[in-house]
Amino acid sequence: TDLNRIRNFSIVAHIDHGKSTLADRLIQLTGTVAERDMQEQLLDSMDIERERGITIKANTVRIEYPAKDGHTYILNLIDTPGHVDFAYEVSRSMRAVEGSLLVVDASQGVEAQTLANVYQAIDADHEIVPVLNKIDLPAAEPERVKEQIEDVIGIDASQAVEISAKTGLGIPEVLEAIVTRLPAPKGERDAPLKAMLVDSYYDPYLGVVVLIRVIDGVIRRGDRIRMMRTGGTYPIEKLGVFKPAMQDIAELGPGEIGFFTAQIKQVRDTRVGDTVTHEKKQCAQALPGFKPSIPVVFCGLFPVDANDFEDLRDAMEKLALNDASFTFEMETSAALGFGFRCGFLGLLHLEVIRDRLEREYDIDLITTAPSVIYNVHMRDGSMMELHNPADMPDPAGIDHIAEPRIKATILVPDEYLGDVLKLCQDRRGEQLDLTYAGQRAMVVYDLPLNEVVFDFYDRLKSVTKGYASFDYQMIGYREDFLVKMSILVNDEPVDALSMMVHRDRAEGRGRQLVEKLKELIPRHMFKIPIQAAIGGRVIARETLSAMRKDVTAKCYGGDATRKRKLLDKQKAGKKKMRQFGKVEIPQSAFINALKMD
Ligand code: GDP
Ligand code: MG
Repeated sequence: TDLNRIRNFSIVAHIDHGKSTLADRLIQLTGTVAERDMQEQLLDSMDIERERGITIKANTVRIEYPAKDGHTYILNLIDTPGHVDFAYEVSRSMRAVEGSLLVVDASQGVEAQTLANVYQAIDADHEIVPVLNKIDLPAAEPERVKEQIEDVIGIDASQAVEISAKTGLGIPEVLEAIVTRLPAPKGERDAPLKAMLVDSYYDPYLGVVVLIRVIDGVIRRGDRIRMMRTGGTYPIEKLGVFKPAMQDIAELGPGEIGFFTAQIKQVRDTRVGDTVTHEKKQCAQALPGFKPSIPVVFCGLFPVDANDFEDLRDAMEKLALNDASFTFEMETSAALGFGFRCGFLGLLHLEVIRDRLEREYDIDLITTAPSVIYNVHMRDGSMMELHNPADMPDPAGIDHIAEPRIKATILVPDEYLGDVLKLCQDRRGEQLDLTYAGQRAMVVYDLPLNEVVFDFYDRLKSVTKGYASFDYQMIGYREDFLVKMSILVNDEPVDALSMMVHRDRAEGRGRQLVEKLKELIPRHMFKIPIQAAIGGRVIARETLSAMRKDVTAKCYGGDATRKRKLLDKQKAGKKKMRQFGKVEIPQSAFINALKMD
């Protein structure tokens, strides 16, 4: 295909501003999919994505568009995720295209993820076409939003296309803008093959499917290729494009985007950002590659029913096949039995994986409190990465502990600003910036990630009635006064409840936890002290008083059936108990104690 007849682009937007709906319209208007096969949110293929209205993996579609100039163009759209946890996937797919449609809801204006995503597009040197969506809504204020785009983002919005992805208004203008305003790709057909590995996923029938963008040269079915970074060589079996269903194609040349399969067994064998070249005739220089996406949030996942352990392992292995950024390793907890310590890109990623395990694999799970990776610097100069508070080394050997911090950007209507500042301050935040964009304030905070993984999103949502938007990026590690807080029940430490906290917050959190446990643990025949401690020092304490000997005593009157019922109930309850020294703690207590209010 002539390079001048190709346009590659992505759509960047804040969540819910209409990216998927616009993609649907572009596909529909160009007849890419027969009308009878059309369904909403065509590119969002996973169930959870559909239900929550988020796109998790980058998806791609090839559209053929007969333009007003009489030529037919090939438009390749890479749809990118809109959520902060997947910022890395946005950045890598941006490198595979030359331009972006910046979609902004004309009734909402610029939001935190609009900014985060458009900065990625600017970083990737994209030509950007602003698109104002939802102009059918009475609340739409296209002129005001154009000004906002110019003020806040600093790009020219005078030529913004005004559309309604819902009604179809303005879609033809979007197609023309793609052809006339976005640049054609560059590349040399006669040069050795050089293609960028954009994404890959595991398909149960085809094995690993690899999405590529060809830069130079031509790739054909049957070619033997080499992955320059991993060194693997493979024969190309299937070569094609997504329309969005797979369609075979004889070759892919410069500027084109498509997929191949090559007997690759697992997603881990493909490295995003790797350079695909021919085994024999290699290109001179590999692409710079990308940073790998590394898990930043960890938690334990344990089966509620110990018999589900092997099923859980199988399910995790299957999910990991397709998601190299999800990690897991076996963990045992005296309280919760056998389970796994899992790593995620962020909280949404955690939620998505947990949901899929519960729904697709039908396993009930206990999730322990999410935690981040601490850098524990030892006196002997070595450093260990602490993924689990249970693995904390002896404090005597520790010099200091550093924790990851983030730069958080929050956009919020003026009236909620005070509450947001208070929330950030409460979470040990340091304000970096505060500016206004129209009626909205934009606050930038430096925050410890561990204060965000607890329940920051939920709190932010509730104090702003859902009107705030949030985005963050990691900025690095910083030393702070961090300690491990242990929980002791009847003087026995309970590992599943230990956590890392800032020394100044330890009393408060310790108090909260022991009070909750006092309510959750049933009484025994003896008194049970429940304590929170740092090292050997107790910082909060409650005592659960002893129970009277005869449990059935409260069934005055001696009704035999009632007595039996009560005893049966106790027996049933026993099964879900965990033994801690002399104390039995119901499984549900662990789940509930770790739930943050
Ligand atoms: P995404 O999160 O950016 O992919 O957003 P979606 O495409 O899923 O759209 C979010 C919501 O806005 C959905 O309920 C859409 O039906 C709705 N929506 C999208 N475009 C328009 C539009 O032009 N007008 C109106 N009124 N609603 C729209
Ligand atoms: Mg979407």
